[in-house]
Amino acid sequence: MTDAKPIYNKIALIGLGLIGGSIGLAAKRSGLAGQISGSARTEETRKVAMERGLVDQVFTTAAEAVADADLVILCTPVGALGPVAAEIKPALKSGATVTDVGSVKAAVIEAVQPHIPEGVHLVPAHPVAGTEFSGPHAGFPDLFENRWCILTPLAQTVSPDYAGAVDRLDLFWRGCGSQVDRMDAKHHDLVLAITSHVPHLIAYNIVGTADDLEAVTQSEVIKYSASGFRDFTRIAASDPTMWRDIFLNNSDAVLEMLSRFSEDLTALQRAIRWKDGDVLFELFSRTRAIRRSIIEAGQDSDEPDFGRGHAHFRDSDDAQD
Ligand code: NAP
Repeated sequence: MTDAKPIYNKIALIGLGLIGGSIGLAAKRSGLAGQISGSARTEETRKVAMERGLVDQVFTTAAEAVADADLVILCTPVGALGPVAAEIKPALKSGATVTDVGSVKAAVIEAVQPHIPEGVHLVPAHPVAGTEFSGPHAGFPDLFENRWCILTPLAQTVSPDYAGAVDRLDLFWRGCGSQVDRMDAKHHDLVLAITSHVPHLIAYNIVGTADDLEAVTQSEVIKYSASGFRDFTRIAASDPTMWRDIFLNNSDAVLEMLSRFSEDLTALQRAIRWKDGDVLFELFSRTRAIRRSIIEAGQDSDEPDFGRGHAHFRDSDDAQD
């Protein structure tokens, strides 16, 4: 805790996995809340949350956790957000802000908004930060440092206090270390479809294909994985429930981006078949520039091989190409 004045007297975290836990730790470190309560489904998660100090108090139900909270942050998988909002509806304090961290925005707003009572502000959000780990052990206070958090405020609101609620949440996320952007929910879903959802689908697919191959053995796939495959496996190790819910809830944008992707892949296929090296070289040069822009924007390390230490891999069969 610091001496800073809290932005909210009490916040409630519903779901205490990677994201909920990291918010609890970041908010505590920067003194953003007077008090933090939380809830999770299982006894094990509640126990770990208290042991790790993710929250000050933990409850078995979301309704108990949100009592008196000025900010409620829904941190469950996307498919559970509607039912959780229905559960907390009668327990919400008047004037409170309800937000979420879901990786999809339009479908979440559709599921949650009907359960938001008059006098409570819904300000949807998505911290674009994560790892392939999940659960109450996975969170850490630096997760949001220098990452973007996208707020997707509702276009139609009658409350004169709504703009103030959005600004306050903006301040909260900055306090967690994030940079903050605001955009329309549908636009968010399109942007994230190409930057996050389709890349995950490609990783799940390529790892699945390698697993199904008959001409190449599984032990060869694993042995020679450092040639590229390994980097897909990190993404393809992400939480199955979370990613199932993302694809079910952002299907339009994902399908639109996938059809563009398939067209471009067909063009590459043709270039390889016709030995058109110029097409391949031009694309590979453009993509290299994108990698440089990501590093310049501070969104990744410029160390070779993502900064992996190689000393402890030395005895293994590392095949770089
Ligand atoms: P997580 O580590 O798996 O944690 C999920 C939490 O939600 C757990 O505490 C779990 O409780 C609880 N939960 C699961 N299903 C529930 C249900 N049906 N009803 C009530 N509670 C339920 O997940 P996460 O990575 O923190 O992701 C949470 C949200 O953040 C998702 O909406 C995701 O789209 C979004 N997000 C994730 C990332 C990422 O990289 N992981 C990044 C940005 C945003 P138990 O532990 O007790 O089962």
